[in-house]
Amino acid sequence: MNFFFAKIQFWLLSYKAELFSIIAAISTAPRNSVINIFTDSQSVISKFNNLQLNPTHPNKLFKFNSWPIWHTLLNIIKSYKLQITFHKVQAHSDNYLNEQADSLAKQHPSSPLLSFNYTNLYNPYHIIQWEQHYVELPTRHFIKQICKAHILAMWASQKRNSEWSYFNQDIDWRSTWLYFNHNQKPSYNITNFRLNQLKSFKTKILLNELPTYSLYHTIYPNQYPDTTCFHCNLSNSPSHWRTCVNPSLLNQIIQTSTTQIILNNLPDLDTYQKHNLINKILQHPALNSLYTLPNTFYSNLTLKGLIPKSLISTIQNSDIPYKTASQIIIDILLNINEQSYEQLWKTYCIHFSNWKKQQNRSQSQPINQSLRSSNLITKHTRFRRDYTYSCLCGLPDQLHSRTNTCPPIGQAIRKINIWSILWIKYNMSSNYILNIQI
Ligand SMILES: [Zn+2]
Ligand SMILES: [Zn+2]
Repeated sequence: MNFFFAKIQFWLLSYKAELFSIIAAISTAPRNSVINIFTDSQSVISKFNNLQLNPTHPNKLFKFNSWPIWHTLLNIIKSYKLQITFHKVQAHSDNYLNEQADSLAKQHPSSPLLSFNYTNLYNPYHIIQWEQHYVELPTRHFIKQICKAHILAMWASQKRNSEWSYFNQDIDWRSTWLYFNHNQKPSYNITNFRLNQLKSFKTKILLNELPTYSLYHTIYPNQYPDTTCFHCNLSNSPSHWRTCVNPSLLNQIIQTSTTQIILNNLPDLDTYQKHNLINKILQHPALNSLYTLPNTFYSNLTLKGLIPKSLISTIQNSDIPYKTASQIIIDILLNINEQSYEQLWKTYCIHFSNWKKQQNRSQSQPINQSLRSSNLITKHTRFRRDYTYSCLCGLPDQLHSRTNTCPPIGQAIRKINIWSILWIKYNMSSNYILNIQI
């Protein structure tokens, strides 16, 4: 018996290793051989049959994972006139040869590296490269993923996101994106005025851009000089509108939304278990400001829509799968958001607008003159400098801060570079970009 072992690298997918071993095995066979392959990978067998039986439409030639390897495999079989039959064996089923193969695979730390020549004679197609690595993923999917990563990296590098950067690792980004998109996939394109309005409301809450007194104070400090609220005299903050008119209403909204959603879902739990779960969620620091400890995720961030992993695992702890748990939390927060819009935000707006009328102020009396003129002066005093380049991000040193922090675009470029290598090597999700600190 002859045997051979090696390890592979990059674009790791479940069946890539199987595919590699098959191509390595048949490339040793002489012309016109009859080959029987025993494998426990049903996905390889199905894909092989599929590709053999249905001649691929030209549009779909690059639409599956590891396509350069598959095309090479199929063309070797064709040109060497090999007859291949696949046999499915059960994994771990006391099959002697299968066990031998498993034990060879276990020697991987000491295995030599088997690399694949993408521009080989048998792969007749052009192939794209990224950072010196050939790309095995479906081409369109790959480009989409890179574009998405750019948008994410640019967004994550903005200064305004530093408010929650300390908690980036604790946020479940998959659920958070779903929340902002009304619990729909990004490709969902049906919309209406109501949903748009709520989406813009959620985004403004996240970015502290709701037209509250606190925002006006930041933009027009001369017209809106107070640091306390016009209505209740408490200290102002971007989220003060939630508790201004009726301080206990927010908690009531959180309680009713949670109770309603838990009671109407999760059919596998009995009523006692459901009430138990409701209590756990309501007492979680991410939803209850009374229980907040220092350096823990606080309720203001959750209400912004940044969903903490720990809140989802509270539900998972009752033997609920992750997807259902995430769905429940998203539903609860969407409900809280909608109720807050109706009951808290609208009331605040009415009070604010009445107050403005009383004060005889109008929104159209904008920008502070002194600010404007100082801007003009800085514009005139700007002069050209000779740029030098020494940072990894590729942007001029003169655009970096004194402490040598990259400007936002530079940070984004460096984040993408870090992530893309991890993506190629370990299939890392693009949400990882949000955890990278530059
Ligand atoms: Zn107030
Ligand atoms: Zn830089």
